[in-house]
Amino acid sequence: MPTTEETARDTIQQLFERQGPTALALRQSKAGERVRKLERLRDALLSRRETLYTAFEADLRKPRVEVDLTEFLPVVDEARHAIARLSRWMRPKRVGATLTTLGTSAKVLHQPRGRCLVIGPWNYPVNTLLGPLVSAIAAGNTVILKPSEMTPQVNAVVAELVAEVFDATEVALVQGGVQTAQHLLALPFDHIFFTGSPAVGKIVMAAAAQHLTSVTLELGGKSPTIVDESADLAQAAQLIMWGKLTNAGQTCVAPDHVFVHRSVSERFVQLCREAIAARYGQTPDAIAGSPDLARMITPRHAQRVGALVDEAVARGARVAAGGEHTTEARYVAPTLLTDVPAEAAISHEEIFGPVLPIEAYDDLDEVIRRVNAAPKPLALYVWSRDRRVAERVIEQTSSGGVCLNLCVQQYAHAGLPFGGVNNSGIGNAHGVFGFKAFSHERAFLAAGPVTLLKWFFPPYTKLSARLSRLLVQSLKWI
Ligand code: NAD
Repeated sequence: MPTTEETARDTIQQLFERQGPTALALRQSKAGERVRKLERLRDALLSRRETLYTAFEADLRKPRVEVDLTEFLPVVDEARHAIARLSRWMRPKRVGATLTTLGTSAKVLHQPRGRCLVIGPWNYPVNTLLGPLVSAIAAGNTVILKPSEMTPQVNAVVAELVAEVFDATEVALVQGGVQTAQHLLALPFDHIFFTGSPAVGKIVMAAAAQHLTSVTLELGGKSPTIVDESADLAQAAQLIMWGKLTNAGQTCVAPDHVFVHRSVSERFVQLCREAIAARYGQTPDAIAGSPDLARMITPRHAQRVGALVDEAVARGARVAAGGEHTTEARYVAPTLLTDVPAEAAISHEEIFGPVLPIEAYDDLDEVIRRVNAAPKPLALYVWSRDRRVAERVIEQTSSGGVCLNLCVQQYAHAGLPFGGVNNSGIGNAHGVFGFKAFSHERAFLAAGPVTLLKWFFPPYTKLSARLSRLLVQSLKWI
């Protein structure tokens, strides 16, 4: 079980206080300064590629291609996107006068929130910590970062990187688990950006409420995937298995389970089975020996996912591929399950492992009803060549994001908001949305040469009464 020493309450308190004056000074920081910091952060990250490959091998046995695509690429792209656009994002946005404020001039100012806290999960420990850091720095804040205690090797490299680029009075990384997180959450931060489970998200939001601190919550959940009878099945199976098995299924936006139309379900299951064999091996031993499949983060997590599979099978689910798991080796085989009964735990818990339940459906309305009866997911994926089907599903459901004939890639589009809805999250990350999450949108209104307000000062006369009535009435026509 990975362990990291908890950081003492006093150390955290001192760091927080030392960041106070920096946060005030950063209010006046210019785009150029912030861009230079982002460039230094990006370069420090890229200079540690080899060290991080080794650290990821130790913590997650994560293949290098996956480290490149899911850890380096999103952070470097986030930095590139912000560097190119920051001066535009920071520029005050002029707003025209409205009828009731004629004669004034208005703009929206983006000011840094101040002292921010970023708490990360273990599944993408670089991406989920440094991605929000890019947005926080772009917006001119100080930051305390708290990575998950589950990835000690990666954290050691990230801690060194952060200390090289920033003074601790601006950005500091503290290590530890629940206790450290609780010391941090007791402080009156100006904003908290949390990535993790809905259960801990509720603890974070309750703690933030004590200081009325604003929060961005990037949470998880069960992202449903619908494959209808018109879908390009081969393409769907290829991409769904990629989305499911990257990082061994430990991905917040992974397709959690699939509803496939009964007329094509057998073929779809066969195509998914073939994708596993082509990518990881033809036999259970070959698959277990594949260097291209990451491991569960701890034996406890492997045991949890293995137990979900065993319980579903004990209740009547059929194993269409895989099913093997070994706790100590942190291994769960890529697994396809069919005929999973509704009462099995795997039908309700976020799976967060390389296991895909596939359910045949007859009636799309029933699938939509099931999706709407569950907590709102982080993502919903539709595979169909019939636009009306896609529109029907998209209009009648809710989720953080939605993809048509794609999955997971919505995360990589820096121009799109990335976030959940209710149980899967509050607020957005990425690009300008991340910049806004870490900014206070401050309303600015200045007097013009004339003010119409004087017509409405007391003592109220017949004229002011007529004018006020006319003003209210006129809003209906103008
Ligand atoms: P987690 O909620 O268990 O832990 C996240 C962080 O919270 C860790 O740093 C941990 O130390 C801290 N923490 C744990 N218990 C706490 C407590 N009682 N009080 C205060 N802090 C506490 O999540 P995890 O297991 O690290 O990550 C998996 C979850 O994260 C999944 O649900 C996944 O879907 C979600 N996730 C979401 C996104 C996203 O962008 N929406 C990205 C990655 C992961």
